Amino acid sequence: MKAIVIGSGGREHAMAWTLLQSPKVTNVVCIPGNGGTATMPGCTNLAMSVDDVEGIARFALVQNIGLVAVGPEQPLADGVADGLRAQGITVFGPNQDGAQLEASKAWAKALMEEAGIPTAASAVFDSGDAAMAYVKEQGAPIVIKADGLAAGKGVTVAMTLDEAHAAIAAIFGGQFGAAGRQVVIEEFLTGQEASVLAVTDGITIRPLIPAQDHKQVGEGDTGPNTGGMGAYAPTPVVSAELLARIQTEVLDPTVKTLRERSIDYRGVVYAGLMITPDGAPKVIEFNCRFGDPETQVVLPLLDTPLEQIMLACCEQRLADFPPFEWKSGYAACVVMAAEGYPGKYPKGMAIGSLDAAIGTGAMVFHAGTELVKGVLKSNGGRILGVTAVGDSFEDAIANAYRGVNVIQFENSYYRKDIGHRIRN
Ligand code: ATP
Repeated sequence: MKAIVIGSGGREHAMAWTLLQSPKVTNVVCIPGNGGTATMPGCTNLAMSVDDVEGIARFALVQNIGLVAVGPEQPLADGVADGLRAQGITVFGPNQDGAQLEASKAWAKALMEEAGIPTAASAVFDSGDAAMAYVKEQGAPIVIKADGLAAGKGVTVAMTLDEAHAAIAAIFGGQFGAAGRQVVIEEFLTGQEASVLAVTDGITIRPLIPAQDHKQVGEGDTGPNTGGMGAYAPTPVVSAELLARIQTEVLDPTVKTLRERSIDYRGVVYAGLMITPDGAPKVIEFNCRFGDPETQVVLPLLDTPLEQIMLACCEQRLADFPPFEWKSGYAACVVMAAEGYPGKYPKGMAIGSLDAAIGTGAMVFHAGTELVKGVLKSNGGRILGVTAVGDSFEDAIANAYRGVNVIQFENSYYRKDIGHRIRN
């Protein structure tokens, strides 16, 4: 079977790599892909825009593509899955109606309320004055979120009223465009964050192994938020008992409520959770796609062929699908970024010694890379995700850093404390 992966990040490289582990998957085409997917055996890049539904559909039909897996949220929110499905193509990823789970935090909050899903208390406003008055009444700390997609930059955890007011002013001042037409103001939660990525066929929903990422750029979880600087799985923070509770309190009611709204959701439901000090899970956010970098640690441990899971979701056969099988042990990923990320950073830096890193046993998933006349160069903020597995959590982390340490590229930055929350 031939498959398409839409997107160009580390997540998409990991998806393509995992699909190719299956003997049934002969080729993967990444649209548009990156320097890593361009050079991976069995994989090719197609330079096409991720929202070119007509172009992707034409290619998929002519090439007899058996499965299209959509990586990022923006094309899903823009209705790319709807457009491809309308042409009879098998797509893993929700339609535009289901993608609202991520594309509108106000919509997701309303769904959670309707479904009785545990989450932070919140209120939604469409004017700055009303939002400011609410914040004053609630006090700080408090969390201010632009409603729509803002590439992870639309959320401010405000420790003071001044910070909260500045965040509200920025949102209604147009900093996030249409994503800031409404603001969601949430109660500040404490605890450990965990990511539970689940797959659904619209009726049945099954979790993958739980992961944790590192959103902040600096060691000790300091500095601005990023797309994610590293991850590991399975995280001991989510025990089997807690995962069962997340299934009944979060995942099942989510899919049931989507269905009650006539939303036929086939793809990933990613629950970003806060495990509060009393051990209860509360939803911080939903995403409508695989997480990045979590995917880079979850998929390498998956033994069941990924395309079979995706097809079972697309064909609504998940209830009868055998239990997912996992390798024993742990996986850890260290993200190598360009110095300066998530602020300004240089591009075009040559990257070398990846074979040496792979020689240590690590997997190197590319994000912001491209091949320029056969030379691998950086072209983004997050450049590589170096993933390794190990029998123990400590081994997996040490193996990932062994890979990182032999990679050569100037002005790179990576956190040296991935996994610190578990080790401390
Ligand atoms: P992503 O980049 O994952 O899509 P996002 O922009 O959708 O992120 P959220 O995940 O909702 O935003 O929030 C970003 C981060 O802000 C969370 O990972 C968490 O650290 C913090 N956060 C969000 N909501 C709360 C809350 N209610 N209490 C405490 N911290 C929160």
